[in-house]
Amino acid sequence: MKSNRHVPLIKPSDAKSWSLCARRVWLDNKGDFELSPIEDEFEQLIVELGLAHEQTVLHQLSGTMVVHTATSPEDTQRLIAEGVPVIYQAQLLDNENGFIGYPDFLILHENGEYQPADAKLSLNEEKKEIQVQLGFYRRMLGSQLPAIVFLGDGEQALIGDEANAITNQFVTEMRELLANDEEPAVRYSHSKCRACPYYAHCKPAFEAKEELSLLYGVQGRAAMGLENEGINTITQLSATDPNSIPDIPYLKGNEKKQRAVFQAKAYLTDEIFQLSPVTLPEGQWVHFDIEDNPLTGSGEKHVYLWGFLVPDYSHDSFEYVWTNNGSEDKQGWLQFLSQIEQYRQQYPDLILAHYSSHERSTIRSYAQRYDMEDNETVAYLLGDDSPLFDLQKPVLDSLVLPLQGYGLKDICKHRDLVNFQWQDDDSGSQWSVVQFNRFLAETNLQTKANLKTEILSYNRDDVTATRRLEEWLRTNFLT
Ligand code: SF4
Repeated sequence: MKSNRHVPLIKPSDAKSWSLCARRVWLDNKGDFELSPIEDEFEQLIVELGLAHEQTVLHQLSGTMVVHTATSPEDTQRLIAEGVPVIYQAQLLDNENGFIGYPDFLILHENGEYQPADAKLSLNEEKKEIQVQLGFYRRMLGSQLPAIVFLGDGEQALIGDEANAITNQFVTEMRELLANDEEPAVRYSHSKCRACPYYAHCKPAFEAKEELSLLYGVQGRAAMGLENEGINTITQLSATDPNSIPDIPYLKGNEKKQRAVFQAKAYLTDEIFQLSPVTLPEGQWVHFDIEDNPLTGSGEKHVYLWGFLVPDYSHDSFEYVWTNNGSEDKQGWLQFLSQIEQYRQQYPDLILAHYSSHERSTIRSYAQRYDMEDNETVAYLLGDDSPLFDLQKPVLDSLVLPLQGYGLKDICKHRDLVNFQWQDDDSGSQWSVVQFNRFLAETNLQTKANLKTEILSYNRDDVTATRRLEEWLRTNFLT
């Protein structure tokens, strides 16, 4: 890979990569990679929905104002000089500072200044990046007016001086990064790296040097602290007495140090380490998993599927609450509560097993959304004697596994661990969101029914996986 000698222009669309990883944004600008067009269907869906939303906003603005589409930076300057009401697809170029920006709209304010505006589906997921992007446009325009965000639910948000600090940080860091011809040294982050287009470029180098942050639970600052103690590789860590490691950031206390050493051993040998007895609650287990759509106009996640695997846990023991679209959101929630009441009657010692905190936090947010925190079923679900049981907890508390992430699929798909395989190998929560959005857009009833069947099948696999995980824990680790 060669580096380019010229310094690329700083553009606000770098904000997303910049917020994730310094090397990623450097490679975006100075790397010599031919990245293929977006293959990730979920990312593609976000782009499509974003473009559709931008067209909706354009249509609305065109209904009340004259909109001119800019064709170049010079054309944008000409339209600004003319004082046209709205400039669509504006192109702002500042060669002196090395900036280029493409605000969706520039809207003429009554004080004669132009106000930058972008169409964004919601502010929930990428608030930092959006603040940088809009703050950058304000900086380029030298505008005191707040920038406008046209949201998917028809509301508008304003971004003003509160975004200046993070925008300036972005500019300063980007200048430093882009002036450097060396690929920046960074740490491995499992959640960020495995979703990154440069994974195949970076991962082998991390592995070759046995980078400590490859280990689950060893974050960048902990890895740096270990290196300061002369522990530079996974092999060295695996051979270290945990009691000899001093407290370092994010690795304080004997338990964490012991875990880190076991995690290093597990990485090298594929061994499993049990730290403490696994305990599982007694009762009648029902396995539970939800599928939700974050790509809504309101920015509030819509749960389109509440799925359950009930005794006798066979293929036909899958039950669910389904909604056809976001307008059935409350109806689905109420049906879910009524389903819970049915299980509660049927199984007085109900254990509602799920994996990770997502199900519990979603129930809490739905109770708030519909002002139902005092509802009896909600109180039953979230109270002191809650039937909800997070199966990830005994795994994280008691086991060290030869894994880099402790997600349900990480554990269940591993051939030497639970070894449960999903029917569709490509399926996943983002896959399910893509299928549901196809379901929403589909007009052919048969195709729509097929999509629903696929989503249900995936959710059935999810709850079956938690059942298999329960069995695996009972068989191997129960005291
Ligand atoms: S794979 Fe990881 S380290 Fe490499 S650029 Fe992507 S996020 Fe950064």
